[in-house]
Amino acid sequence: MTSTIFERLRSGGFEQALFSHDTETGLRSLVVSHDTTLGPALGGVRMYPYEDETAALEDGLRLAQAMTLKAAAAGLDLGGGWSVIIGDPARDKTEALLRAHGRFIATLGGRFIPVNDVGTTQADLKVIGTEAAPVCADGDPSPMTALGVLEGIRACLRATGGDGDLRGVRVCVQGAGNVGAALARLLAAESAELLVSDTNARRADAVAQTVGARVIDPATAVVAECDVLAPCALGGVVDDRTLQELRCRIIAGGANNVLAAPGHAAALEARGILYAPDFCVNAGGLIFLEERLLGHDNARAEHRVRQVGERVATVIEHARRSGVSPTEAALSLARARLRPH
Ligand code: NAD
Repeated sequence: MTSTIFERLRSGGFEQALFSHDTETGLRSLVVSHDTTLGPALGGVRMYPYEDETAALEDGLRLAQAMTLKAAAAGLDLGGGWSVIIGDPARDKTEALLRAHGRFIATLGGRFIPVNDVGTTQADLKVIGTEAAPVCADGDPSPMTALGVLEGIRACLRATGGDGDLRGVRVCVQGAGNVGAALARLLAAESAELLVSDTNARRADAVAQTVGARVIDPATAVVAECDVLAPCALGGVVDDRTLQELRCRIIAGGANNVLAAPGHAAALEARGILYAPDFCVNAGGLIFLEERLLGHDNARAEHRVRQVGERVATVIEHARRSGVSPTEAALSLARARLRPH
């Protein structure tokens, strides 16, 4: 018998994939632990009507791996994990189902710490928390993600000849959701020139009105002429097609998995576009969650989140010194923390 799941776990360096089923509620869920070398695995609980089990597993694996990198790159004492519940949140989500999922998480003895993601809310995490501890259900990390992105943008401007001043710098914010809206507000306070786009036109209009931005068509936002493209919607923004059409000089935003394929990091370098690795620049929310778990106050979290800018600057410096892309430099710095010897 060929074992494709074990082969996938081996090749990606995963520790564990816990498949759970609950007869009473029909729950089908997964918890993936990628790497807990640095601490317990922290990651989202995503509830989504996946096409099949393979799609659910692959999503969980990919996201767990990204969390390991993000925590390691941000200097946190956390590992990477992720959880998925197969189902339609609008139809299938019940208190009993969430509690059943919580009981399975509890069997991991605190090695997985869940936070809400697509299809789950902080209230849902509180329900899961009646069965498992600890959970992150207290405080929205998005404003801190946005603050880290702001400091990351500043670092990129400094690395390309600027002094970090955002006045008059044209930034295109793609996605006016939790992170995008918060980032737009921060940029407006620094007198940046703002373009905003969202597939939800009402959301784009509302944010644009509050911050004095120009709304642009979501179909062309990625290729808008600007200094900084800040992807704050979905991943896969840079692909073979958009790569040729980009008209920005810096890409730094809140979205995960901005590059459709790893090779796009070097291709952006070749085009002279500075790309701040997503897992580095969007780590502010995770830093905030760690601070919350440690029981620290917001002022301390904010201080640490602002250091995202220094981390991005270090990554760019390493990249330039070694003649690699910032993504490669960030990956090797993160891996050095995970495997110091
Ligand atoms: P959100 O759902 O609140 O906002 C996303 C917005 O993007 C929505 O308004 C949606 O309508 C819009 N959108 C979707 N496709 C679009 C497109 N093609 N063009 C323009 N707009 C589009 O999500 P969020 O919490 O703001 O997260 C945004 C991104 O940042 C996600 O990729 C998320 O994984 C990532 N992220 C978020 C956090 C956090 O703290 N929330 C932390 C790290 C990474």
